[in-house]
Amino acid sequence: MSATIAAILRTATEQLLTVSPSARLDSELLLAHVLGTNRVGLILKANSSVSEDQLARFEQLVARRANFEPVAYLTGHREFFGLDFEVSPEVLIPRPETELLVELAVKFAATLNPPISILDLGTGSGCIAISIADQLRDRKQITIQAVDRSAQALAIAKRNSERLGTEITFLESDWFSAFSGLDQRFDLIVSNPPYIAVGATDTSPELKHEPQGALYSSGEQGVDAVLKLCSELPRYLRKEGVFFCEIGAAQASLISERLAGAGFEIKFHPDLAGIKRVLQCALTY
Ligand code: GLN
Repeated sequence: MSATIAAILRTATEQLLTVSPSARLDSELLLAHVLGTNRVGLILKANSSVSEDQLARFEQLVARRANFEPVAYLTGHREFFGLDFEVSPEVLIPRPETELLVELAVKFAATLNPPISILDLGTGSGCIAISIADQLRDRKQITIQAVDRSAQALAIAKRNSERLGTEITFLESDWFSAFSGLDQRFDLIVSNPPYIAVGATDTSPELKHEPQGALYSSGEQGVDAVLKLCSELPRYLRKEGVFFCEIGAAQASLISERLAGAGFEIKFHPDLAGIKRVLQCALTY
């Protein structure tokens, strides 16, 4: 008799124990993906067996997972801010800590009088811009633009936006480049730029499967991108506007030092782990 779903999951979990801190969950997500069901569906069918073809496909995915490929790339999906996002190795996988950036942006947007213009820099899967748009659905006169320098990333972001029914204009642009020469200013600018220090050795082995430019193109200390974006704020941020930017653990003091005396009012917001994770930056003049 062929193995049951329960037994297949036990075997896969054991195989993944040394690779993943969430071996059981990973196994469930991969098997649910192959069977076209969800985790509850697996529980309900725990004593059923699967076809040979399904088992073979599942085993292939488990083997790839054992080589540190992230589950999100194997299933092509990742949940973020309660929404389902398509992802591929062209885009960074949305992370839970980035939900803090969305929360802060939405709270700030709620204090603004319309018309409101929002810009997301380096949108990747589109998860930040789309989650903000989804939260602000009922508000009138909001324009949201999202840019990325990768056309492949933009294609994914556009598909996510269409599937989730949000209205966002996507532009190919290296940070602010598409706006240079235009006299356009924003009330709210958000970004999750690359911030891992080049040469950092304490990173997870999964990162090698993600777009390297989205993680590492920010210099030796990982702060080049955030500092560059701040330096351009006087041209693109409205007087009362705010820039929220995700930063790396332990970068807050370096960023404060580097921005000191540059005419910004800055603040850091801690994530659930107590790490100063989001920089809030406004103009003082
Ligand atoms: N939070 C990511 C990580 O540490 C990095 C994301 C980024 O560089 N923007 O894996």
